[in-house]
Amino acid sequence: MSRPIRLKKTKTMATKVDPPQLRILHPPEETPQPEGALAGDTPLEPTAELMDELAYHSRRLEGATPEEILEWATQRFAPKLTMATAFGPEGCTILHMLSNIAPETYTFNLDTGYQFRETLELRDRLAARYGMQVDLRRPETTVEQYEAANGGPVYKTDPSRCCLDRKVTVLKQAIRGWHAWMSAIRRDQSPDRAEAPIVGWDDKFQLVKINPLVNCTKADIWKMITDNDIPYNPLHDQGYTSIGCSPCTRAVLFGEDERAGRWSGSEKTECGLHSLDSPTTPS
Ligand code: SF4
Repeated sequence: MSRPIRLKKTKTMATKVDPPQLRILHPPEETPQPEGALAGDTPLEPTAELMDELAYHSRRLEGATPEEILEWATQRFAPKLTMATAFGPEGCTILHMLSNIAPETYTFNLDTGYQFRETLELRDRLAARYGMQVDLRRPETTVEQYEAANGGPVYKTDPSRCCLDRKVTVLKQAIRGWHAWMSAIRRDQSPDRAEAPIVGWDDKFQLVKINPLVNCTKADIWKMITDNDIPYNPLHDQGYTSIGCSPCTRAVLFGEDERAGRWSGSEKTECGLHSLDSPTTPS
């Protein structure tokens, strides 16, 4: 009878268990918050395909009339198409054309609190004529609150910051959720505007920008106004060729540039809405 085999007792080797790894939790990296129109619910993404489409139509529409450009813009982007106006003669002509093409278009004005009384009265005259009420978009603070918080009028000490607070910031809020906005700029108004396309991606505000009047001259605009009896700001008859906020606008002298009365005496030429540089920043 064979003896049972006795297994030799061996020293049990302890299974090596690595100490629990301590996971170092880093705070999540700050995700840049979308700005401008991209902050809306259904933003239009600037894909390569969209860029090609915009470039194609911008070239194609170079010889088109402002009405044809507006018709294309409406067909392509409505109901996500909006328009900002400062009630200049150009903006009034676009409102006139829109009243025939797409009167339901949402239009707005950046009401800084510093606009001329004549400008706000023009809004009422346009509404009476066309049945289109331009919405007034305002900063969070009244002029009184803003000046009290800043020790006086900021347009005197830092106009770029004043424009940032009372125009650019308000525009960013106003265009949330829209896919395209229209402006009334002309290429011959200033070097900043000379390169403006008919349609392109507005990198600053993150939506499509359409400029139906870029190829018009000042004479073209005034011909449209007189031919169609379009309401306009009476200050133009008193030498104000370009009208913005009252503290930063003066009438121009004979021979001066059309926009010489804006921020006269300072280096500033744009409020930051239509310039191609980065958004106006506090200086
Ligand atoms: Fe301020 Fe003048 Fe700019 Fe108007 S135009 S927001 S008053 S700095």
